[in-house]
Amino acid sequence: MPGLPVLVLNSGSSSIKFSMYESGESARRKLMEGAVDGIGSGEKEGKFWIKDPNDRKIVDQSSHVPDLASAFKLVEDALLSAEKHSGGEQTWPHPAAIGHRVVCGGPTITENQRVSPELIEELERYVHFAPLHNPVALFIIRETLKLFPEVPNFICLDSYFHRNLPEVTRRLPVPAKYTEMGVQRFGAHGISYESIIEQLKPSVPSRLIVAHLGNGASIAAIRDGQSIDTSMGLTPTGGIISGTRTGDIDPGVLLFILRELLKASDDGKHAADELEDAVSKQAGLLGVSKTTNDMRDLRKAIVAGNADARLAVDQFTYTIRKFIGAYIAVLGGLDMLVFTGGIGVNDSDSRAEICSGLECFGIVLDAQRNSARGDVTISPDDSSVTVRVIPPEEDLIMVNHVYRLMAESSH
Ligand code: ADP
Repeated sequence: MPGLPVLVLNSGSSSIKFSMYESGESARRKLMEGAVDGIGSGEKEGKFWIKDPNDRKIVDQSSHVPDLASAFKLVEDALLSAEKHSGGEQTWPHPAAIGHRVVCGGPTITENQRVSPELIEELERYVHFAPLHNPVALFIIRETLKLFPEVPNFICLDSYFHRNLPEVTRRLPVPAKYTEMGVQRFGAHGISYESIIEQLKPSVPSRLIVAHLGNGASIAAIRDGQSIDTSMGLTPTGGIISGTRTGDIDPGVLLFILRELLKASDDGKHAADELEDAVSKQAGLLGVSKTTNDMRDLRKAIVAGNADARLAVDQFTYTIRKFIGAYIAVLGGLDMLVFTGGIGVNDSDSRAEICSGLECFGIVLDAQRNSARGDVTISPDDSSVTVRVIPPEEDLIMVNHVYRLMAESSH
């Protein structure tokens, strides 16, 4: 099946990212990539851009994107206009297959697979297991099916990488009837973790910790390439404090907030949604700093002497350091620590702050190497633990899954 054009869509609460690859038995050639971000930022304009395979921006505009529908319209127009220009100015072809990132498929959908009406219905049942992501992914799946009705669509699950978590980490200590309803640790960022393993092949270290630090942040303990523990739980709200999410928190706090919300409301109908909003959209770095969830802005605020920003970042690095210590215990030692995600790849200060105090475990940074950019080793050569920075290649992993599923279905 040589040269299949595969479109992949990776959507979050405030952005739609997309890219197209020409996919063959072994080679993958990028045809384009783009994104709409700043969706639903009120008066603030969002950005819409598309880059060609040489990283040149062929679309770069500020747009008012009040909601997901207006954001998807921009993507739709771009995909269709390229097609219309097939006579001369074509920059990318009609997709032969489409892949969608879905954070969590719930207890019944654990494998990457082709989209069907039944699958969509099943995903709907578990939207609250990834409240910021799954509703967006479902919207985009439906719109894409309308746009390219004849093209097969596939889901690529973040929960797939963690599907074989041992029972001791998967089972959450709630009454059994909730476990039967699907409550368990699913973890997230699985596609990013898969991409790190893929890039480390053929020498994947036996005892590996990967910290995916982006707007959402999580960490995974990986033994011989398999996830054995991960910080996010039923939803991506658990684990490490991140941009707008609490991370792990005493359940008593949830009850306190819920009671306050119920007291303040007439009928209590929206209390669960308001609680979700409080712990997933208003908390974390934003909640503690009171101003922003963006690490670049937090770093500027720290330089300007803002104590709330300092505390937010200290909590962030502290919880990650705690998880690294715990996962060293879980793995019985450590061979490699990898930083990835927007903060993990770009913020050398966060990496230095997280690693400081971990020297007793053999985690040592070389300050000069840590200030370099891209795919680099940031520990000294003689270090017992190798510390690396590896940018995630999530789109490539999705393209690989789609290509494999297409090939399997054609047999
Ligand atoms: P998402 O989870 O939305 O995919 P990303 O992986 O893109 O998030 O990461 C976004 C985070 O990365 C933001 O907090 C942003 O401030 C941070 N970031 C991006 N570039 C830099 C940089 N050069 N220095 C510090 N932080 C950065």
